[in-house]
Amino acid sequence: MHIAKRLAQVQPSATLAMSQKSAQLKAAGADILNLSVGQPDFATPKPICDAAIAAIQSGKASYYTAATGLPELRSAIAAHIKANTGFEYGKDQIVVTNGAKFALYALFTAILSEGDGVLLPQPGWVSYTEQVRLAGGIPQPVYAKDGFKVTIDDLDAVATDRTRAIVINSPQNPSGTVYSRQELTLIGNWAVRHDVLIVSDEIYSDLVYNGNSFTSMLELDPQIAANTVLIDGVSKSYAMTGWRIGFAAAPKKIAQAMATIISHATGNPAAASQYAALEAYTGSQQPVFDMRDAFAERLNTFYPLIKAIPGFELDQKPEGAFYLFPKVTGAVKALGYDSVDTFVTALLEETGVALVPGRAFGMPDHVRLSYATDMDTLIEAAKRITDFVNSSN
Ligand code: PMP
Ligand code: GLU
Repeated sequence: MHIAKRLAQVQPSATLAMSQKSAQLKAAGADILNLSVGQPDFATPKPICDAAIAAIQSGKASYYTAATGLPELRSAIAAHIKANTGFEYGKDQIVVTNGAKFALYALFTAILSEGDGVLLPQPGWVSYTEQVRLAGGIPQPVYAKDGFKVTIDDLDAVATDRTRAIVINSPQNPSGTVYSRQELTLIGNWAVRHDVLIVSDEIYSDLVYNGNSFTSMLELDPQIAANTVLIDGVSKSYAMTGWRIGFAAAPKKIAQAMATIISHATGNPAAASQYAALEAYTGSQQPVFDMRDAFAERLNTFYPLIKAIPGFELDQKPEGAFYLFPKVTGAVKALGYDSVDTFVTALLEETGVALVPGRAFGMPDHVRLSYATDMDTLIEAAKRITDFVNSSN
């Protein structure tokens, strides 16, 4: 039995593995507080569910759709992007996929030849690195000199003549950092100058809190927008992780290459889910604002509790997404563990609190806590972590 060589360096997803592990422990009767996976705990808004049910009952969801998605959904997505950013795409530039995850996978497969590089600012979401590897590319991690935001000096230090793309994820998973318009403009111009494609993963764009504002790559200079592939989807904004609908909005040539891949790899994402997504983008946006307000309240409660834990460093309050990403080496050393990974395992086994080690996001001194769960769970989790850390005294 042989496994492909390109898998030798590829790890399974740490976020999904941790979430799976806590689900198993919970099913076995353990008292688990799952702050590992990043998915809203809210149910999908009812009008969205009703649209899917109606599509199933009418029979329209029984059939294949175009591989890149229903034309009316692609038009609705193009209209949604235009309303939010002013940038105009034709519907043949929108590729609807099985989650934003597969939009990224199809994109890397479409643009990378063996040995091409992709700049990946760290910390960064677990799947970018592994997807680039699976597509035959070389991940080029970029660490900011200071904090979580890379500058063009940081990019210059890592880019090579084989660099083909840079992934910018703002608001960022795992730190909740949001890039300003000025910072994005500098990076955007740098990418245009170097003929490096911008992959702008804006899946958390609706989740920005406390008066902070979000800027899309598409709102900047038209040259920057024309050099960008937008990645987004319904998972986070509309509490629809299980429905698996994401999309890429791309220059025509790239959209066509992705369409070819998708026509062989998956065909269309589930038709019923596409009708649900159509309702998400064209119906009332009030549920998005209500969920955003609930996340903001959780952040404002949870952040001070976690920041106060001895040995947890979290100076910058996150502006968006739904994660905290403290450096925890102070606490890990005080408790006598040899790494953050063993600390996270012990925390789960002894207190039932599930987190994700920072190593999976390129920063092994940190842990990620998701606050996309109810307030009681967050307050109880903060208490258990605090008691666990204080048990060293
Ligand atoms: N990008 C980022 C930054 C994410 O955190 C996630 C995780 N949900 C995705 C993309 C993929 O989301 P989905 O496949 O659920 O659309
Ligand atoms: N993106 C979410 C996370 O970071 C969902 C799990 C995944 O697909 O990685 O937890």
